Amino acid sequence: MTTFLDKAHSLAASGQVSQDEAKSIRAVFKALHSLDPVFAKASIDSRNVEALFSAVSMGTLLERFGSASPAEISTLEADLNTLVAATVEASMPMRRHQADEPWLHVGYVELWRWATSLRTESGPKPTFITFNYDVALDQALVGASSCLDTAWSPNNLNLLKLHGSLAWRSCGECGLTFDTFEPQGDQPLQSNRRNTSYRSAQVECPHCKDRAELCKKPVIVPPTWNKLAHHAQLANVWRAASDALRAAQQIIVSGYSLPPSDEFFTYLYALGVEGDARLTRFTVYDPDTEGVANRFRELLGEAVRDRFDAHGSQFHKAMERERQHWRSRKVLDDGPAPIY
Ligand SMILES: [Zn+2]
Repeated sequence: MTTFLDKAHSLAASGQVSQDEAKSIRAVFKALHSLDPVFAKASIDSRNVEALFSAVSMGTLLERFGSASPAEISTLEADLNTLVAATVEASMPMRRHQADEPWLHVGYVELWRWATSLRTESGPKPTFITFNYDVALDQALVGASSCLDTAWSPNNLNLLKLHGSLAWRSCGECGLTFDTFEPQGDQPLQSNRRNTSYRSAQVECPHCKDRAELCKKPVIVPPTWNKLAHHAQLANVWRAASDALRAAQQIIVSGYSLPPSDEFFTYLYALGVEGDARLTRFTVYDPDTEGVANRFRELLGEAVRDRFDAHGSQFHKAMERERQHWRSRKVLDDGPAPIY
């Protein structure tokens, strides 16, 4: 994750982000350097952005963060939010592979093809669950409902973003969290929205209209112990994910390695599936097959272990395989399949 912070640093230095964003990024690095004396006595992995989120959450709570002033500490969480949003969006370039395809992040073409065919089918559809903030998955999953949508129903093609989204905003007036994502057709996402990118777009609350101040910051939930601070905003999303896991007959995981520090997923899964009777398949795709497979095996109960399989495929290969499964009705016959 060191490269993530390196990328943030070079974005600010090269003027590829707005002046306000560059100011926030510089504030995070200044606070980080102010921790230097702390490193002499304690071990904090400040190059790891998740560890940094934890340190900043704790620092905000204690009103103490190295030699940073109280005023600097008070804006540190917001500055880190800006750093992450700007870096994530700049790290997700979109490409168009063929004239009749929309602009997509490389690696999502197979998924887009699958989602396009799903749109025309009746019957149950898979639920996609992600921890990513970026909108690459939203763009590939044409026609998917966000669970923030009033039209959300378990039978739709759904996208549940458990850590929030660059396109989500929360209204300071009424507390409503809403999704501002709009699929991009002919124009690439970044250049089309260079001045009003998802991360910095100021939008109006659909409920309060012009009564509320414009909502400015993306709703992104750092992967740290302090996640429950965002509980009220995201409870519905997590509940929907838990319901989808409970209803699932097949669970397919790709691009998520179940890091030992992420106890949140462990409990979401454990409390979500309860009885494992309905689950007929639990498939994990990850290039590090053995290490990741072993962690998932530990997580799964005895009843599911014989239905577990792991493959060393990258995300696009995994999606191609699942699309073929679905087309041959091997998956459809068995009902909804949440995917991470
Ligand atoms: Zn509102």
